Amino acid sequence: MIQVDHLVRSYGKFKAVNDVSFGVGKGQIVGLLGPNGAGKTTLLKMLTGYHFPQSGDIRIGGIDIVQQPQKAQALIGYLPENSPVYPELTVGEYLEFVAGVRGIDKALQAEAIDKALTQTDALAFRNKVASHLSKGQRQRVGLAQAILHNPEILILDEPTSGLDPHQILEFRQLILKIGQEKTVILSTHIMQEVEALCERVLIMNQGKIVAEGRAEEIARSLQGGNRYEVRFSGAKVEAVAPLLEKVAGLSVPPALAGETFLCTFPLDIAGGEALFDFAVAQKLKLISLVPCTISLEDLFVQLTKEETHAVPAEPLA
Ligand code: ATP
Repeated sequence: MIQVDHLVRSYGKFKAVNDVSFGVGKGQIVGLLGPNGAGKTTLLKMLTGYHFPQSGDIRIGGIDIVQQPQKAQALIGYLPENSPVYPELTVGEYLEFVAGVRGIDKALQAEAIDKALTQTDALAFRNKVASHLSKGQRQRVGLAQAILHNPEILILDEPTSGLDPHQILEFRQLILKIGQEKTVILSTHIMQEVEALCERVLIMNQGKIVAEGRAEEIARSLQGGNRYEVRFSGAKVEAVAPLLEKVAGLSVPPALAGETFLCTFPLDIAGGEALFDFAVAQKLKLISLVPCTISLEDLFVQLTKEETHAVPAEPLA
């Protein structure tokens, strides 16, 4: 549904997005993670046609966004970081304005607005002036404007930033509900948000994608395989260690942490079974066998720990 190849966008000499490539399949909810300044917003602005890339290709539903921006944009709903609700308009008036910009037929606008407000649980404040909305209500209206033209793709830039914990949970439920029928890219700093909503993650750092895939897969490849913590009782650690080193398939010798062995197997080996068979063969009591995966938070810290020393350019439009 979205295909991005070798995308570059600079501000002056500073490459905010530097040779980024990835694809997002139809119906997926993908989390875009990265520290401040990683280039997420710049990337999202290119995906939505607000910025053109200096080089590289973006295809939205097979349509080149540089060649046919309006056709590609018709497939996309965008909720920017700061929800663009005009303060002096009522919610209804604002959505009528957006419907006009989106080219929705006048006769169909009222129906489209009703539907979008219903889907975002925002019908109750249709006649409220936007400046009187709470932050949570404003985000719902922002989401309503994003889905007004019933796009296949939703791009959400830090949609829950600034919301209180109740509003965050409610807004996530909305994203999950609306996301059932759409392809979603969601930029966020919040790891629980990615864990709660996204089947895949793209991790960005210093303008590049540094990891991509399901969080568990990224964790496994980062730790070099499937890792298990295993403990036995009724045997001396010194006696078990040399035997354990001979377990078939171990990719590195087991490390010892207290009385617990840390064993790493290649990705295609069922390490848990091998360790269980080892315990049976050696007549050892297996008292714990725990697969270890790095948490998404640790993964994020490891992949993005290098500080950028590049100095961004002077602000450009
Ligand atoms: P955050 O999570 O803080 O929103 P981000 O990952 O969205 O950050 P971007 O907003 O895309 O990052 O910014 C990437 C880099 O480009 C940053 O170093 C930023 O200072 C720089 N940058 C962004 N917009 C401009 C601009 N208009 N002119 C110059 N530099 C810019």
